[in-house]
Amino acid sequence: MKKAIRLLALLTCILATGYSQSKATLSEELYINGLNDTIYVVTHNFPWPSNSLVVNCGKEVVLIDTPYEPLATEQLVNWIKENLSPNKITAINTGFHIDNLGGNEVLRSMGIDIYGADLTVELVKSRSESTRKQTLEWLTAPSLNRFYDTYQSLVFVEPNITYPIKKGLKLNVGGIDFEVYYPGESHSPDNVVVYIPKSGILFGGCMIKSADSKNLGFTGDANINEWPLSVKKVKERFPNAAVVIPHHGLWGGKELIDHTLKLLQQTKP
Ligand SMILES: [Zn+2]
Repeated sequence: MKKAIRLLALLTCILATGYSQSKATLSEELYINGLNDTIYVVTHNFPWPSNSLVVNCGKEVVLIDTPYEPLATEQLVNWIKENLSPNKITAINTGFHIDNLGGNEVLRSMGIDIYGADLTVELVKSRSESTRKQTLEWLTAPSLNRFYDTYQSLVFVEPNITYPIKKGLKLNVGGIDFEVYYPGESHSPDNVVVYIPKSGILFGGCMIKSADSKNLGFTGDANINEWPLSVKKVKERFPNAAVVIPHHGLWGGKELIDHTLKLLQQTKP
């Protein structure tokens, strides 16, 4: 019965969000789902699921966050080139963790510009090694060797175009507006969200949890006191958000924002 309810909830979610308009499998652990004709959610399971976003702006493509590591990121860029044929690809990082920017090395080697906050650059420099250490601690089982080795040799590369985090960033690419907004600390000190007003899509990143999340996940870099205030600011700033994409798990509507607030309430410090 529980299974049936869960399936029904999933189906409702799929219908509500237009999940799976088009689908591509790039490898056993890398999938692409079309939200509409121009926006794709990329999910990388390595070994935990993580979402990034590809926005086709006509002659240019914007990539919001990267898969966890360079190889999958290269596969993704190749898919973008083959299927969307852009003249230019531009990337945005929404935080300093591996799930935000683990693929930066390959993006930069391909000459792709990456926007990131000044605070993100600072944290890549000062905290990447502790992030790596934490990640490796979760991967000590022999069956996870492959992931361990990849994270151990990962090269952390900063975004190359910075903006002051408190000011945020507005981009217009091929006539499509992007607003990068920092509401304050949350899951990490530097997590930003990206809103695309034309399609009402909000990439909530690691600040926003999926509807089936039972807890806040990794909170080692979180500010539990400020996180709810930051989520409320995001909710107020983007009242027309129709689709909300969390960094981990299935996307949905604005109920994901409320669910995140509920989880935060249960996790009072
Ligand atoms: Zn995350």
